[in-house]
Amino acid sequence: MKTNKTLMGKIYIVGAGPGDPELLTMKAYTVLQSAHIVFVDRLVSKEIRNLIPSRSTIVEVGKAPGQQSVPQEEINTGLIEAALKGFDVCRLKGGDPFVFGRGGEEQQAAQQAGLEVEVVPGITAAAGCAAAAGIPLTHRGLSQAVTLVTAQAADELNINWRALAAPDQTLVFYMGIRQAGQIQTQLVSRGLAPTTTLAIIENGTRPEQRIFHGKLGQLRAMVEQNQIASPALVVIGEVTRLGVNADNLTSLNALAEEFCA
Ligand code: SAH
Repeated sequence: MKTNKTLMGKIYIVGAGPGDPELLTMKAYTVLQSAHIVFVDRLVSKEIRNLIPSRSTIVEVGKAPGQQSVPQEEINTGLIEAALKGFDVCRLKGGDPFVFGRGGEEQQAAQQAGLEVEVVPGITAAAGCAAAAGIPLTHRGLSQAVTLVTAQAADELNINWRALAAPDQTLVFYMGIRQAGQIQTQLVSRGLAPTTTLAIIENGTRPEQRIFHGKLGQLRAMVEQNQIASPALVVIGEVTRLGVNADNLTSLNALAEEFCA
């Protein structure tokens, strides 16, 4: 389609990072200040929403897990229609827009409509939440690879569990809380030691953040006992031992046991 791009608005597909507004990029902040319309995901934190100027129009398109959301097609159409009317549009997404974020689909739709698109990267949850918790995703001698995995699928998870069960690497499961039992069973049955350490990071980098350290063999129980809810990440691998409060927790547990004895 041949279109006159100067009369049309531009679509910015923007990553908002894991939640702490100070982890927003300067570019994301600038786009937020200048866009006429902002289409916002549920995952975008309240603190970041508060940075959207009151003159801008906000369109909520997020969904809570298991609930009805605005279908992706409808979001694409909304973005395109607004830009065709001459508005600059910001599609604000949690983390990085291209990591389990469907940003690629929005980019394709906008390009097919002949619109100008710019992607503003964001700090993806794995990188942001782990680093802020003191967990290096790779570490010399402990982990030579890191794999980001989505644990959400319409039906059975179609995952190469054997490859994931290899030692000396880090696994980060997105959207994995409801599948905690399956992750534990699959990895252990493929040979990953149940004593492999892990961390669960709920609401990473946000004021309500909770971090739990434990072992693969306890994953399901940890999720149930602590009533962990989305958004949360499961980080599996020996690197989690380096987490800022991993040692503290162990020594606190020891202290508690001594105290109760
Ligand atoms: N595009 C996003 C991921 C979207 S999928 C990104 O790059 O981060 C949504 C999943 O991301 C959640 O289910 C959770 O697993 C993870 N997530 C996002 N923000 C998080 C946060 N602040 N703390 C923990 N997990 C988070």
